[in-house]
Amino acid sequence: MVTIHNLGFPRIGKKRELKFALEKYWNRQISQQELETVAANLRQQHWEVQSQLDLVPVGDFSFYDQVLDTSFMLGNIPARVLQVEGADSNKSNELDNYFRVARGRSADDSIGVSAGEMTKWFDTNYHYIVPEFEKTTQFSLHAERLLEAIQAAKQHGIKAKPVIIGPVTYLWLGKSKDGSNKLELLDDLISVYAQLFQKLEQSGIEWVQIDEPILVMELSQEWQHALRKAYYQLQATSLNLLLATYFGEIQENLQLVCELPVNGLHIDAINGKNEVAKVIDWLPSHKVLSLGIINGRNIWKTDLNATLNWLKPIYSRLQERLWLAPSCSLLHVPVDLNSEVKLDTEIQSWLAFAVQKLDELNTLAKALNNGEESVAEQLADNAAAINSRKQSNRVHVDSVKQRVLGIKPDMGKRQSPYKQRAKVQHKRFNLPLFPTTTIGSFPQTPEIRQTRRDYRIGKISKQEYQKAMQKEIATCVREQEALGLDVLVHGEPERNDMVEYFGEQLTGYIFTQFGWVQSYGSRCVKPPIIYGDISRPKAMTVDWIKYAQSLTDKPMKGMLTGPVTILNWSFVRDDQPRAETCMQLALAIRDEVLDLEQAGIAIIQIDEAALREGLPLRKKQWQTYLDWAVQAFRITANGVKDDTQIHTHMCYSEFNDIIKSIADMDADVITIETSRSDMELLDVFDKFDYPNEIGPGVYDIHSPNIPSVESIINLMEKASQRIPAERLWVNPDCGLKTRKWEEVKPALRNMVEASRRLARAFK
Ligand code: GLN
Ligand code: ZN
Repeated sequence: MVTIHNLGFPRIGKKRELKFALEKYWNRQISQQELETVAANLRQQHWEVQSQLDLVPVGDFSFYDQVLDTSFMLGNIPARVLQVEGADSNKSNELDNYFRVARGRSADDSIGVSAGEMTKWFDTNYHYIVPEFEKTTQFSLHAERLLEAIQAAKQHGIKAKPVIIGPVTYLWLGKSKDGSNKLELLDDLISVYAQLFQKLEQSGIEWVQIDEPILVMELSQEWQHALRKAYYQLQATSLNLLLATYFGEIQENLQLVCELPVNGLHIDAINGKNEVAKVIDWLPSHKVLSLGIINGRNIWKTDLNATLNWLKPIYSRLQERLWLAPSCSLLHVPVDLNSEVKLDTEIQSWLAFAVQKLDELNTLAKALNNGEESVAEQLADNAAAINSRKQSNRVHVDSVKQRVLGIKPDMGKRQSPYKQRAKVQHKRFNLPLFPTTTIGSFPQTPEIRQTRRDYRIGKISKQEYQKAMQKEIATCVREQEALGLDVLVHGEPERNDMVEYFGEQLTGYIFTQFGWVQSYGSRCVKPPIIYGDISRPKAMTVDWIKYAQSLTDKPMKGMLTGPVTILNWSFVRDDQPRAETCMQLALAIRDEVLDLEQAGIAIIQIDEAALREGLPLRKKQWQTYLDWAVQAFRITANGVKDDTQIHTHMCYSEFNDIIKSIADMDADVITIETSRSDMELLDVFDKFDYPNEIGPGVYDIHSPNIPSVESIINLMEKASQRIPAERLWVNPDCGLKTRKWEEVKPALRNMVEASRRLARAFK
C-alpha cells in the first residue's frame, strides 16, 4: 500500500477566521481563552478535512508564524522582550511575549518593543520572523504547545505526524546579532532537539517530519557539515524521521540528502521531477521515499492520469516505501475552492485549492492501491477538466502567441543612449536641480474606499464614480501644486491594488472571492489568477492621467505596474514558462505606455516593486531570471521617444547584488527605498557607476513620523557624494496610500523645502 500524507495545511481558515480572531485579541475585544478556542476549532476542522490521509500534520498551526513558534519551542526569545514591563510577571504569559516578538506589542502593552525582523520564507510570499542569535544564546525545550496539539489530535482519532523545522534550517534562517558564528550554536541546539525527540517518543509518535528546505539551495561545506553532524547525532532516537525538502531540486546536494541517517526522505517532485529517478537509485533501500507530486504552490488541478502513469513504475519498484504528498506545505494556496460561488464555472473546473489537492492525493492513492477502476469516475472527471483547459480558446489566443513570437530585440531598445535622451528631456521639462516627485499613490481615505465599494456593488453609476474619482484627482493635483512639487501624480484613488487594478482590465485573468493566502501574521493576500493568454482590450489608465494632466501645467506622471511585478504577485500558469507569460504582460503594458505617450503624457513610471522577489533560490539561476525580467521591462518601457522620460520604482533595499541588471533596465529615473539605512545602501555606487538618474527615498512612508528639512538635506548630501547632483531626485521611499493627509502634507512640505535649499547650495 502507498502511504499518503500532508506537509502542512493552511491555518487561516476558509473565511480567515484566524485573522479576525487575532485582530480582535490584539484590540482586546476577545480574551486569550476565546482566541485559543478559535484556534483549537480550526485545528480540529483541518484535521477532519485531512482525516482521509494516513498521516496528518500536527504542529503546522501557528498563531503567527511557524519559525517564531520554533524559536519559542527552543527557548530562544530576544532579551529585550523579556525586559518589557510585566513580561516576566504572572499576569503576562508566553502568548503575550510571542506577540511582542511578532509585532512589537501584546494586547495589554502601553509601550512597544522593537519587533523581530520579518523576511520572506524562501521564494514564497510568506514572511517569517527571523530568529535572533548571539554568542551566548542558550536553547531550552518548551514543547508544551506541540505536545498538547498531539494529544488533541489523538483524542480526535487522528494519526498525527508532528512537523518541525530542522535544526540546521532553523539556524540558517536566523541572524547573528553580535557577529558571532551561528553554527557554533549547533551542538547546544542538537541537544535540545534530542530532548524534543524523547518527548515525542513518550507521546507515542511514530513518524516526525523534519523540514530542511535549505537542502534545495547552494550550501557551503560548513553547512553541509552541519547537516551531517545534526542528523548523525540525532539518529539515536527511536522515532522515524522523515526529512523533508521542498521548493526546488536538490541537485548537487543529492548524495548528501540520500546519505543522511533518517528513515525517509520527502522531495519536491513538481520542481524536481527530473531528479526523482536519480534519487531512487541513490536512496538506501530501507528508506521511505515521499514524492511531492501535487503542486503546493499553485492552484491548478493535477493531471491525475499523467501522474498515475508516471508513478506506476515507481510504485512497482518501491512498493511500501513509496509515500505521496503535496510538494510542500499547502500554506501557500487558498483553503477551499468550494467557497467560491461567483467564479466562472469552466475555469473553476480547472482549479484545486488545499482541500481539493488532498482529494487528488486520495484518488491517486486509491488508484495505486485498489486499481484504477476503484476511482474510474474521479479519473474521468479529472481528464475532462485537464482537456478542457488544454484546448480552451479562452486559454490559447493565437494572436497573442504570434505577437510574442514576433518580439524583436530592438523593441527593448530606446532610440538613443541615456546621455542624449537626458539632454532633450532636460530641455523639455526644464526642472530645477534636485527635482521633487512622489511615488504615485496619495492617502486612500475612507471616502475613496467607500466610493470604490459603492461602484463595485452597483450602488452608484459609472458617471457618479468617475466624477467622484476626478474630484479626488483634482484635490491631489491642487495639493501638489500648493506644495510646489515638480513632477506630479494623479494619486491612484481608482486603484485598490497595483496588480489587481491592471489584472481586472486584461484578458486571461480571474479573481477569487476567498482565495486568501497568508502573507504574514494576520495579513493575507488574494493573488489573482492568470489562466490564459494576456492582452489589453483597451487603454487602462489613459483617461485618468489625461484628466489629471489637464488640470496642471506641470508634468503629470503616468503610473503603471510593470510586467514582472504583475507576474510575481499572481498565481501563474503552469502550462508555459513564466518568462513567456511575462512577455505577454510586457506587450500589454507596452501598449499602455505608448497610448499614454500618444495622449501627451511626457513622464511615465513603471513600478517594478516585486522584481527582486522573483529571484530563484539558487544563485546560479539568477542571471537567467534577471535576463528575461529585464528584457520584459525594456520591452514595456523602451518603445517611447527620446523626450519621453521613463521612471521606475523599486521598494526594497537590497539591490546591491542585482545593480547591474537594474542599470540594464535603462529607465531614465529610478526611485528606491534607502532612507531607513541612512543612505548606506548607496555604498554600492562607490563601486558601480550607475549611469542614469536616481531618487533615493528620503523618508520612510511606513512610519507616521514627519521628516525634518535638515534630515532630508543630510541624506541627500550623502547621496550626492556618490551620484552627481544633476542626476539626483528627491522623493519619499514608496507610495503614500497608507498615510493620512495630515502626515503627508508637512512631510512633503519639508521635502520640497529641502530640495530648494539643496538646489541653491549646489548651483
Ligand atoms: N505607485 C505605487 C504607489 O505609489 C507603488 C507602490 C509600491 O511600490 N509598492 O502606491
Ligand atoms: Zn514602493
